[in-house]
Amino acid sequence: MGLICAYSPESALLSLTYAVILFGSVLLHELGHAIVARDFGCETKDITLYPFGGIAQVKLQADPFKEFYIALAGPTVNAFLCVIAFFGFALGVPLMHEILFLNAIMCLFNLLPSFPMDGGRVVRSILARRPGSDYETATATCLKISKWMSWLYVAIGVATGWIGLVIVGGFLLFVNSRGSIR
Ligand SMILES: [Zn+2]
Repeated sequence: MGLICAYSPESALLSLTYAVILFGSVLLHELGHAIVARDFGCETKDITLYPFGGIAQVKLQADPFKEFYIALAGPTVNAFLCVIAFFGFALGVPLMHEILFLNAIMCLFNLLPSFPMDGGRVVRSILARRPGSDYETATATCLKISKWMSWLYVAIGVATGWIGLVIVGGFLLFVNSRGSIR
């Protein structure tokens, strides 16, 4: 019975609304990256949309200064949407609670210090700017940090029974093992 109710037209419409909110938030996040990249004169090859956040394939930034700001642009858009949704929620605008929650999760998740999340790129850009460091060394260090962080997510997920975190950790380990970090 519960299963039948789950597929009522109302819940289908609600699912569609959530999908639109998710897609819109991911798209705006990616546009944030693309716009700042364009301002720096870097081209964006394509944008891959993942359910938890897209990954704009901005061409390799040999300039850590640029990468820092391009990487931060996406989560900044989510933070900005959170502020707007907060005021909308306070004014009683429908769906603002959902937009606020989703963008808060997306902002924090993308700031995790793991490749290929934006947080990983921020860490790399900071490491690469240290005196005596270069881009390759910073990338290698970041991949190590990323792998340890991914195992940490898996461990916390297993310990707390949070399956989502186990999946995220496993996914990041898989991506990192392919070593195609640009
Ligand atoms: Zn991003």
